[in-house]
Amino acid sequence: MKRENRTGGEQDASPPTEPSRIIEIGPDIYQFHSEKPGSHIYLIRGRSKNVLIDTGTTSHFPLLKERLSDVGLRVRDIHLVLLTHEHFDHIGATTFFHKTAVVAAHRLAANKLDLQDDFVTLNKYYNVPSKPFWVDVWLEDGAVIELGNRRLRTVHTPGHTSGCVCYFEPDEGLLFSGDTVFAGGTLSDVAGSGSVSDYMESVQRLNNLRVKKILPGHGWASDTPEEDMPRAVENARELLNDSMVFFEAFIKTRKLEGQGGYWRQKP
Ligand SMILES: [Zn+2]
Repeated sequence: MKRENRTGGEQDASPPTEPSRIIEIGPDIYQFHSEKPGSHIYLIRGRSKNVLIDTGTTSHFPLLKERLSDVGLRVRDIHLVLLTHEHFDHIGATTFFHKTAVVAAHRLAANKLDLQDDFVTLNKYYNVPSKPFWVDVWLEDGAVIELGNRRLRTVHTPGHTSGCVCYFEPDEGLLFSGDTVFAGGTLSDVAGSGSVSDYMESVQRLNNLRVKKILPGHGWASDTPEEDMPRAVENARELLNDSMVFFEAFIKTRKLEGQGGYWRQKP
């Protein structure tokens, strides 16, 4: 039914409907919509392997179990968990799959997870419950994950954190982008272990891929990557310029105060 405007005119009498919690992206590819503060979770049913990309937060595991059951799967039917990076809102429920699934992440995320580096994972910052696990397979840029009827290529995209990766499915041009790039070319922040100049390089590399759909860790999916990716490059350039301005101002302030730097020892 048509809705004229917010203040008057024709109104839809039916109550607002909840957005669907399971979205079918394509044949055997599902998005389990995020339960805040967790990220979206993607399920790919491959011919030989069922894969989850990210697992959301620890406390939302019961909901994830429900979503899996809605598509006819049990926890032990997941063979592989691929993590996009090391933040708590993407990795939390991984521990519950670890008994029966192989867990993979970029090596720079894997070492932080293995050492329970709570500064980088943000577990302590947000004071969220967490359950440790280790990463079975330490990925490098270019690593291919064969699912029988599909392939995913690992693209290392440091910037938001050092261990960020995107998973690219070249046949349909699907980019599972984690927190590296969102719809509209929006970028994330540069968190602990991240780097703005790495971010710049990463989005430039993504811009060279033949992406047809961006499937991010938060927010909307995008069918217009040809518009979004150049915008992401522009946003990264702006982020780089802003950080340079900030650091120049910061250094000037330190000089005016006659300080040698943070590290200067008191006489
Ligand atoms: Zn993140």
